Amino acid sequence: FSPSPFLDPGTHASANNLGILQLRRDQLIPAVLLPHAESDYAEGKVENTRFGSFPHSTLVGQPWGTQVLASVVDTGSRGKSKKRKRDGKDEDGEAGKSDVKEARKDIVKAATASSGFAHLVPPTPETWTLSLPHRTQVVYTPDYSYILQRLRVRPGDHIIEAGAGSGSFTHAAVRAVYNGYPGQSDPSNPTEDADTAPKKRKRKRNGGVYSFEYHEPRARQLQLEISDHGLAPLVTITHRDVYSDGFCLDNPSLPDADAIFLDLPAPWQALKHLTRSPPSSAALKATAPDIPTETTADASKPFRSPLNPRTPTRICTFSPCIEQVTRTVSALRTLGWLEIDMVEIAAKRLEVRRERVGLAEEGVRGGNSAPANVQEAVQRLKDVEGRAAVFHSLQKEKQEEVMRRAEARKRGEVGVGDEDGGKKEGVKTSRQDRLDKAKREIEARSLFKEGRLVHRTEPELKTHTSYLVFAVLPREWSGQDEERARRKWGK
Ligand code: SAM
Repeated sequence: FSPSPFLDPGTHASANNLGILQLRRDQLIPAVLLPHAESDYAEGKVENTRFGSFPHSTLVGQPWGTQVLASVVDTGSRGKSKKRKRDGKDEDGEAGKSDVKEARKDIVKAATASSGFAHLVPPTPETWTLSLPHRTQVVYTPDYSYILQRLRVRPGDHIIEAGAGSGSFTHAAVRAVYNGYPGQSDPSNPTEDADTAPKKRKRKRNGGVYSFEYHEPRARQLQLEISDHGLAPLVTITHRDVYSDGFCLDNPSLPDADAIFLDLPAPWQALKHLTRSPPSSAALKATAPDIPTETTADASKPFRSPLNPRTPTRICTFSPCIEQVTRTVSALRTLGWLEIDMVEIAAKRLEVRRERVGLAEEGVRGGNSAPANVQEAVQRLKDVEGRAAVFHSLQKEKQEEVMRRAEARKRGEVGVGDEDGGKKEGVKTSRQDRLDKAKREIEARSLFKEGRLVHRTEPELKTHTSYLVFAVLPREWSGQDEERARRKWGK
């Protein structure tokens, strides 16, 4: 049993698991950490980036959030031998030419490799959306956060998704429905499984994502990624054209969906399969006017609904054009969906920062005056740099302390409520030490208090804006339900 790093990343990056190297806010590189894999480098597998080279061996075992410095890597004999041919000539057919090229590359690498740094962060749907290999347009975080909240997706729910595309929405959906792996009763206790769980506890329904994709290579690639990410027990990917073949699975009790998300070119053509009872021929005609009626329903097959009959079903369709919206809304109305409305997300990111503090402003600390001469200006700059260095080292100290506490907690050495004193960790700091630290912190912080606080809207936000149509299909209401309601609430 190995938990998915998306759902339970632990405190540190581990070998054979996915980690994300964050170079800048929106520049992320996903990598399955394989420190011992065959590679062109003496260091094993290496991520080469514009900010330098990061051997996987320097990433494995690091606490998530660590700032990792780039390394100078050694292409060593391995890299060169790969290029060289047995007869002593290189692939270009000229002896020595590729050697020169390799040597040049090494020099450039050596000069630049150690210049940068990156942060090692755990995979999450958000970091995955920013770093995944795009095979299609994807749904971005501002949209899927809103969609999952409007669909009221909760742990234990079942959600249908079509088309799955690059799997951006899939990863967000699986986190939203996760309430443990099938066969595991209590996600907070991975050692407890269905057999060892107390008998009296009612067996819960595990959350699940049922994804459909009709482009076969895309469906296959997503299946591989989902398996690599440890999410296979929670996500069922089916290669299928949902317009003609719908959403039912071989297991007749699945998907049993509570929520549906359709990111398809013609969502109205899939709606006839998302009903509780067989749709009338008038409804079929209205929902799928573009395709021949004989393919809209197979009369020889008994009708099965993919929806959970015990709950209202919520749907969201995602379409870039208003014409698609009107056709979808019309089909939804015809098939009995209620509370239909449309939303467009216009997310904006605000950059909030302090204005750069110029030398004259720096003078505020030195008596509100401009520096008298070059020496004074240099001295003030050094002062600023010194305080910045103190600030960063304090930040680092804090981060390390948090990690130490997390480790100690994991080992069971610190109980809840012990965090403040840190007594059980044997870390004793005198009052004077604590005062000195606070003083240094206040002084360092003052650097960032200077300069006016300004904000501006960032011009470009990575999002594929579309119209979101939402609707609800009421739950089934039988004679028995009515009887029960009467007994409960009176006539
Ligand atoms: N939501 C996805 C994501 O976040 O990565 C992106 C979906 S992409 C825009 C649309 C996908 O729908 C494509 O991969 C396409 O192959 C698939 N598709 C189109 N028509 C389909 C159909 N009839 N049945 C199943 N999938 C379909």
